[in-house]
Amino acid sequence: MSTLSAFAAALAGGRIEVVDLTAPLSAETPVIALPPQFAQTARFELEELSRYDDRGPAWYWNNIRTGEHTGTHFDAPNHWVTGADGDDVASVPAARLVAPAAVLDLSAEASADPDFLLEVDHVRAWEAEHGPLTEGGWLLYRTGWDARSASQDEFLNADDTGPHTPGISPRCARWLAEEAPVIGLGVETVGTDAGTAHSFDPPFPCHAALMGSGKYGLTQLQNLALLPPTGAVLVAAPLPIVSGSGSPARVLALVERG
Ligand code: MN
Repeated sequence: MSTLSAFAAALAGGRIEVVDLTAPLSAETPVIALPPQFAQTARFELEELSRYDDRGPAWYWNNIRTGEHTGTHFDAPNHWVTGADGDDVASVPAARLVAPAAVLDLSAEASADPDFLLEVDHVRAWEAEHGPLTEGGWLLYRTGWDARSASQDEFLNADDTGPHTPGISPRCARWLAEEAPVIGLGVETVGTDAGTAHSFDPPFPCHAALMGSGKYGLTQLQNLALLPPTGAVLVAAPLPIVSGSGSPARVLALVERG
């Protein structure tokens, strides 16, 4: 049997499970809120064109309006000024959209401290237990933040000092971009950077370092708790928006059971 036939048989038999890591996309899906002097991303919207009526008797369809960075989405290198000459989302090679995933669970730490930051030592400790990060794979950073995703207020967790959501330290961001073998970072929060990252040096270090190194981001993931630390394969499928900086994405994980 060919490798792919064996894979299809394992899928059909349930030995490989498909776990959906994607947040439902609706007008209620939380979106990032930037300081008021900056342009804001759109919420997702449906505009009904016809629904089996005079406008189209046998068909139902909608126009959609969305930000590229709305809901579960993919950050392309050209999203950040440091990656301005890098790939747009349509130019990301398709072969890189299917890749292994390492899952780091820092949900206890993030539950105790919403401003928790991932450090290189956390990744090193994970590697000591599970082996080195896979070349060309994703690092998925679980914080438990997906439990808040039904509410914009809980998800952004802002007070009068700004948003408080877990993220990555500036040093760890540089390390992931320049030294770690990963192609990108996936998170459960509204963006790959911490809520307080506007005040870091440099600001938004995760975006600056990853995009500047031609790497990718995945945000607003769900169900990372259902993944093993190693062994899952991620299918991250952004729309090929020509010249786009990112796209809402369907993100699926293939997980071997038993
Ligand atoms: Mn984004």
